Amino acid sequence: MAETNSAAKDILAVRDLRILFPTRDGRDTVKAIDGMNFTVRAGETFGVIGESGSGKTTLGRALVSLIAPTDGEILHDGTNPASLRTGEFRKHRRDYQIIFQDPNAALNPRMTIIDSVIEPLEVMREGNDSSRRKRGVAALERVGLSPETAGRYPHQLSGGQKQRVNIARVLTLRPKVIVCDEVVAALDVSIRGDVLNLFTDLQREFGLTYVFITHDISVVSHVSDRVAVTYLGKLMELGPTEDVIEHPLHPYTRALLSAEPIPLPSSMRVDKRIILEGEIPSPVAPPSGCRFRTRCPSVQQRCAAEVPAWRELKPGHMVACHFASAEGPPPDNQDAPVAQQQQEEANEEV
Ligand code: SF4
Repeated sequence: MAETNSAAKDILAVRDLRILFPTRDGRDTVKAIDGMNFTVRAGETFGVIGESGSGKTTLGRALVSLIAPTDGEILHDGTNPASLRTGEFRKHRRDYQIIFQDPNAALNPRMTIIDSVIEPLEVMREGNDSSRRKRGVAALERVGLSPETAGRYPHQLSGGQKQRVNIARVLTLRPKVIVCDEVVAALDVSIRGDVLNLFTDLQREFGLTYVFITHDISVVSHVSDRVAVTYLGKLMELGPTEDVIEHPLHPYTRALLSAEPIPLPSSMRVDKRIILEGEIPSPVAPPSGCRFRTRCPSVQQRCAAEVPAWRELKPGHMVACHFASAEGPPPDNQDAPVAQQQQEEANEEV
């Protein structure tokens, strides 16, 4: 985790972002991102957390220009990459990289590890073959892999080693920002901590900015300075990680945290276990008003009629809920179907 510096400049600025896709049959529209605003400061680790279907993966790809916004914009250090000419865009894009969940995603099974690592440098036409190889081997060593790894093939490496190769591959470009999309989710639990610590060390050494996208609260609490909670294409809550995890203000964040079994420290766990009822609704036809209302135990009539404003309830701590306050989420509405169901389940358990 980097030292939080609220005076640092915004290296990413997401403004009124909407990303819509046609459904497969072309008859409907998926609202993957439906109005997001936030900034990421240079040198910080910004966590994005949510269930699958929350839009976080689309967001990650959009942050590095792999997907274009339908509306709104994403500024990279004040520049809108969409405004750049092809040559300028290619140069610019090396500063904004992404690492995916699947360690095999960027590795060609028929290429040696060193050839995969230096491939981005070849594409950028940087240096000659010998200088590229030198840089590639140095990057492999920096991520904890021996020079002998260079001549091997992906199938000869473990998942953790392959993910280190992916980190080395991205490092050769010396980026400013790396989006890490579920980067430890496919790895054995026993090595996740080592890989996360490697990310932290590299951040200190190279002054990197990370956006960590994950469904795993323990990952966010381990690495992030600030965290944004996403639900059905919108932000529900955003703030300093410790504050959001210890004192969530949104009913959805509270439910996510209470569903997390271990390894949160006891001080970060909430007493009452709140089960998230049902599946996340379809992003083709999201609920009116507050997106979370069909699963919210605090829901009231107003929630269906009005989209909650994005309000700053504590310094740097934003929430989209009509009834949340700086003290916490609103109390359960005993007449709400979700609250009644939870009460019945609690009674059955006793
Ligand atoms: S109380 Fe209403 S506005 Fe707040 S999270 Fe629940 S449904 Fe949304």
